[in-house]
Amino acid sequence: MSKPVTDLIHHPYVPPEGFNAPQPGVFKASTVIFPNVAALRARDWKHKDGYTYGLHGTPTTFLLEERIAALEGGRHCLLVPSGLAAISAVNLALLKTGDELLLPDNAYGPSKILAQAELKNWGIRYQLYDAMKPADLQARIGAQTRLVWLEAPGSVSMEFVPLAQLAQVCRQRGVMTALDNTWGAGLAFNGFDLRSGEGVVAGSGADIVVQALTKYPSGGGDVLMGSIVTRDEALHHKLKLSHMRLGFGVGGNDVEAVLRSLPSMEIRYRAHDRTARVLAAWLQARPEIAQLLHPAFAGSPGHAHWQALCGADGLAAGLFSVVFDARFGSAQVDAFCDALKLFKLGFSWGGPMSLVVPYDLPAMRSAALGTWPYKGVLVRFSIGLEAAEDLQADLEQAFGAMA
Ligand SMILES: *Cc1c(COP(=O)(O)O)cnc(C)c1O
Repeated sequence: MSKPVTDLIHHPYVPPEGFNAPQPGVFKASTVIFPNVAALRARDWKHKDGYTYGLHGTPTTFLLEERIAALEGGRHCLLVPSGLAAISAVNLALLKTGDELLLPDNAYGPSKILAQAELKNWGIRYQLYDAMKPADLQARIGAQTRLVWLEAPGSVSMEFVPLAQLAQVCRQRGVMTALDNTWGAGLAFNGFDLRSGEGVVAGSGADIVVQALTKYPSGGGDVLMGSIVTRDEALHHKLKLSHMRLGFGVGGNDVEAVLRSLPSMEIRYRAHDRTARVLAAWLQARPEIAQLLHPAFAGSPGHAHWQALCGADGLAAGLFSVVFDARFGSAQVDAFCDALKLFKLGFSWGGPMSLVVPYDLPAMRSAALGTWPYKGVLVRFSIGLEAAEDLQADLEQAFGAMA
């Protein structure tokens, strides 16, 4: 007879034979138990034909990796603890002292800060490029350029960049590309096979596609996770080695939350998109608004690029910005945001609750590149899953409160 404490650990529980259910079981581990010393010594974390340590994967994380790879149209996937961790893991795996990194001026802000504040200390230089101008990118690629980040649309400013042309410039110069595909989410377009001109061209996209699973794949505003997807096995193994050395693990319960949300992702994405377009059209007609920034609207910067890549009746995320007329100062725009009741003030997006953030866009952009032409204050909306008419009424009363 063992002591109770031992019985609690060595519980004679056997998973039910022949049990099947729509949702997979959740396996959580730091320790993985080997049958014998020979198996322990022969462990191979690299090829996914066994389990070695929780940090390097469980049946639950392998399953999410397979599904995200399929979603992105790739073959291999690594999971990391946030979208930003996906960006830093790619940078750390591929760059060394003396290398140069090129980032779009309209990239996700923390990606630029990572280059400015951390990579710089490692002797990795960076340049910003104007992603609306493939010729600007072309001119900046030099002998030390090792990696170019791509992102569409621009973060916060929402101008849709000519992704296929940017990727082509890099391919011609033999420079590796990584795409932040959080906005497209693997649904609006395929980051590996971009559409340029008439049709989708196989292999015309990025070498690496990352996504903040925090956004639409999680869909709940309650999970932080990122993915790094590739098609090329050697590249995947390079990233995986670095990922293993850096110790970027994800928790089984968080993986389960994403697995639970993935089946509804496409209908959620379409619902966010539909409501966002209703509200964007309404806002565009308001006298307080000088410019709508939503790639699916004619008159928004880069609309033609969105149309070429995603299709004339293509999808867009439920995310857009507006520029207020310059007669409204930032105190008035703050009052508008504060007056909103259904829209909450908060970062991130992709969850059921609509969010709003006012941004000081000029401070986020390179003055030298001059990629920001507007005078008024910018406000970004992330549209949730509420009824469009309720959100519209909320916006209307907030305009009233601002006046
Ligand atoms: C949110 C976001 C990230 C970072 O994701 P976190 O999980 O919040 O770290 C990266 N890129 C883009 C485009 C994002 O919107």
